[in-house]
Amino acid sequence: MTVVASPSAATGTDLYTLVRQLYPICRSITGDGVRETLRRIQQVVPVSVVEVPSGTRVFDWVVPREWNIRDAWIKSLDGRRVIDFQASNLHVVSYSTPVRARLSLAELKPHLSTLPEHPTWVPYKTSYYKPSWGFCVSAAQLETLIDAEYDVCIDSTLEDGHLTYGECYLPGESRDEVLISCHVCHPSLCNDNLSGVSVAAFLGQWLCGLSRTRLSYRLLFIPGTIGSITWLALNRDTLGAIRHGLVLTGLGGPGGFVYKRSRDGNALIDRAVENVLQHWNDQSSIRDFTPYGYDERQYCSPGINLSVGCLSRTPYDEYPEYHTSADDLNFVAPNQLEASLRVCQSIIEVLEDEATYLTLNPMCEPQLGRRGLYSTTGGAGERRGNEMALLWVLNFSDGAHSLLDIARRASLPFRTVKRAAVLLEEHQLLRRQQATKMEANRMEQGLGDR
Ligand code: ZN
Repeated sequence: MTVVASPSAATGTDLYTLVRQLYPICRSITGDGVRETLRRIQQVVPVSVVEVPSGTRVFDWVVPREWNIRDAWIKSLDGRRVIDFQASNLHVVSYSTPVRARLSLAELKPHLSTLPEHPTWVPYKTSYYKPSWGFCVSAAQLETLIDAEYDVCIDSTLEDGHLTYGECYLPGESRDEVLISCHVCHPSLCNDNLSGVSVAAFLGQWLCGLSRTRLSYRLLFIPGTIGSITWLALNRDTLGAIRHGLVLTGLGGPGGFVYKRSRDGNALIDRAVENVLQHWNDQSSIRDFTPYGYDERQYCSPGINLSVGCLSRTPYDEYPEYHTSADDLNFVAPNQLEASLRVCQSIIEVLEDEATYLTLNPMCEPQLGRRGLYSTTGGAGERRGNEMALLWVLNFSDGAHSLLDIARRASLPFRTVKRAAVLLEEHQLLRRQQATKMEANRMEQGLGDR
């Protein structure tokens, strides 16, 4: 695999355009907003839509009733909408029960949420599991509300229906799977939600365009928490095929990449991401697993324990725009989205190409110059890197070290080490090691990556 040469890779403009198209849709953990979102994603990647009835038991949880909303407002008695759902879907607390009432400002105030430290921003709030209703307004809007009566309407329904998610399975040569998961449950928020959706969708499109992959891929577009719990409960018999996974979120805003390791901490996905980020021209950091955050906390719960990490830029609670109206189309940038897609492609390249080779010339160094293996093209730095990679691969291809082990030890990008191995194989100096029966068994039990 060579990511850079892929002609079908989307650009930052493609990624941003999808974010812009999805931005106005009012999504929640259930409802028509998720369906409309999945229909748009289907134009990028072939996603199947799955509907799970309300009331379905999923481990310790129950699929909730379906929520839909058509309109909502707070009107002054002269009929003017002072707070209008049509202006921003963030104005209504997600999962608000229907309401029609005439209330004094004092009666209304307990139902209003603001963000005093950012007076022009509207907060994003939800009340999925406790029946209630509310509006989110900017502190500046609240100031304009005089002490009077107001007509309040939330034209919503909360009734038995379905939880909807999207799934796309792309079979490879092996049944071993890579899980890519993102959440589709937030309304008009760009970085938290839509950036991950867009990167996952175009990553899927790129995978579809590859002539072959060694691994199989499963993309999930699911509501956060209840979606992953539901999917895991319904698919628990087939989870054994998942070897590696990534939760994608917060990939369009400012800041370098942050990778949160899987629960294991040293799985192949962890080591693959670390190598890619170490050699990425960007500030990045690696953090250990914590049982909080996005859906990795479900994939890494002790009874499930999949090798799933979380890739983001600045993490969710470390930027003030998080869960506010300021996480808008200006907060995400095409170049940030595009770099995020490239990083994901590079991670997949490592997962696809990771292998162990055996040197066929272990008695001292082979004479590389005679074979024309000292390159004369490329800059001095690149040449030196390539030559060093040849020596590292020759020395450590002893059957006990994989290409990723060698890349880590040599502080070289995986791609450079892989290229060296291909070149040495072409010159009959290296042979790809076939997995022994014992190793194959270990792989089958999911132990091959440790
Ligand atoms: Zn969120």
